[in-house]
Amino acid sequence: MTPSVRMRGIAASPGIAIGPVRIIDRQEIKISKRRIAASETAGEVARLMAAVAESRSQLLAAKEAIRDTGDSSSGDHSLILQAHLLMLEDVLLLEGASSIIKESLINAEWAFYKKSEEIKAALASTGDAYFSERAQDVDFISHRVLRNLMGHAMQIVDTYTDACIIAADKLSPVETTQMVGSPVLGFATEAGTRTSHTAIMAQALGIPAVVGIEQLTERIGASDIIIVDGNDGAVIIRPDTDTIEEYRARAARHAELEKKLLSDRERPAVTADGERITLLSNIEFPAEAAMALDYGAEGIGLYRTEFLYLNRTSLPDEEEQYNTYRAVVSTIAPRKAVFRTFDLGADKVFGNRKSREVNPALGLRAIRLGLQNREMFRTQLRALLRAAKEGTLQIMFPMISGVGELRQIKVMLEQARKELGETAPQSVHIGCMIELPSAVLVADQLAREVDFFSIGTNDLIQYALAIDRVNDHVAYLYTPFHPAILRAVKTVIDAGNQAGISVSMCGTLAAEPLMLPLLIGLGLRTLSMVPTSIPIVKAMVREIDCLEAESLAHQALELPTAVEIEDLVRFHVEKKLGPNFPNP
Ligand code: PEP
Ligand code: MG
Repeated sequence: MTPSVRMRGIAASPGIAIGPVRIIDRQEIKISKRRIAASETAGEVARLMAAVAESRSQLLAAKEAIRDTGDSSSGDHSLILQAHLLMLEDVLLLEGASSIIKESLINAEWAFYKKSEEIKAALASTGDAYFSERAQDVDFISHRVLRNLMGHAMQIVDTYTDACIIAADKLSPVETTQMVGSPVLGFATEAGTRTSHTAIMAQALGIPAVVGIEQLTERIGASDIIIVDGNDGAVIIRPDTDTIEEYRARAARHAELEKKLLSDRERPAVTADGERITLLSNIEFPAEAAMALDYGAEGIGLYRTEFLYLNRTSLPDEEEQYNTYRAVVSTIAPRKAVFRTFDLGADKVFGNRKSREVNPALGLRAIRLGLQNREMFRTQLRALLRAAKEGTLQIMFPMISGVGELRQIKVMLEQARKELGETAPQSVHIGCMIELPSAVLVADQLAREVDFFSIGTNDLIQYALAIDRVNDHVAYLYTPFHPAILRAVKTVIDAGNQAGISVSMCGTLAAEPLMLPLLIGLGLRTLSMVPTSIPIVKAMVREIDCLEAESLAHQALELPTAVEIEDLVRFHVEKKLGPNFPNP
């Protein structure tokens, strides 16, 4: 038997999964090229159309299956499948491939492959992140059609029927959403980082995941059993029976701990010395609002509204947005819900603009996009203001660099409020994300303009340390323990306290158990995170003593390197909670 292999990656989403692997290898199929006689063209076109029809019914069945699971976020996942279904009707693709069959006298597989490659290349050449993602969609669709044409079994997530763990070079956030209601137990990928949207999605859906494992798919055989340990970033290929037993026991302990923690969800998060900490939830889809409450969230600290704009061909209008936002607000009422205006751009782009951005993360994103597309932004502001009448809705602006932008937005918001008259509240709390180094440096000025700050560490670390948050090659440098990050967080908290406004954190860091004493020691009292992290963070809050935490933060701020800071914090946490915390 081939020996067992243990590989290390980045723990992207907690939990342990054990099971047979399904490898998604998009390079696997070999497309044959065959010349055909003129008399065969009609037959080839018919074969192609039959494969398209088969692909269509597979997607419809997947859509149906998702609906039948009754999963709360099924509507959003159906939308994604709907986008793929629409792509299957694309005239350019189907008529283009049929013409190639007829004109070049070539078989259906090759003609379809050639046409989809042509469309993919055209989309990718725009250099625009939105179109590049659409090129990926064309890739998935063409893969499905080609497999059907060639009679290959499908290896696409939404068609799996047996329990399995996916190993892939990379997975898109869309593929991750398709795992809902499927028998996929977990996944491991070669690409990816902890703060990529695929990882964020896996956390939201509660799917254990490890990412960033170089050469993973090469090391795995088709029928191997693998273990994915999303708690500590390990993947074990072909584990022996002892290891399987050990991980089963760990998984059982983890499940037991989760159950115990969940039973405590109604109890408030209070530190050992009586300090109240507020734990809020981050959500991407409206249906997650109810899930957030189930996990004990005291409100929504970040609703990433841009997900409403993705996987579709037209913008959501004011009415659709109003209804969506209203549903979230009323689910959460009387608790508060913080709605972030769309953070589109970079890896989440809607629209048909042909920007040729070389560095999209530094490009036309979030508020910059809103201020350039005022009608689109105005529509969202109006919908938000109307929904604010239904409960406690607060509006937060992403990627703010300084007061100038904020003032422009405030003028737009006030105009929208005046237009709406009675249908908008007299006032609404507004806040800004602090996720740019410039915002940290002018935090004192920003604090005079808003009601609250929320620190977005996913981007703050990316921009402060110049490390692309989705690039696994530099993921090892992406550390929250860098002294610059600690100082930045401290500066923002101090500025907020001085101005008397509230400061919270909604980046992934807010859910890191190891960071918690440091964050509380630095002065944070409100944290917003993926719903599934709330129980463990709440349990940990109860162990923390604020005075000890303050002294820890004080010592950490004096240290010059990330390694020293991490060692100090780890020593503190292990001394208090044991060496295996938070893993049982
Ligand atoms: C962040 O940047 O920390 C954040 C919360 O926003 P996003 O991850 O959506 O960029
Ligand atoms: Mg951000």
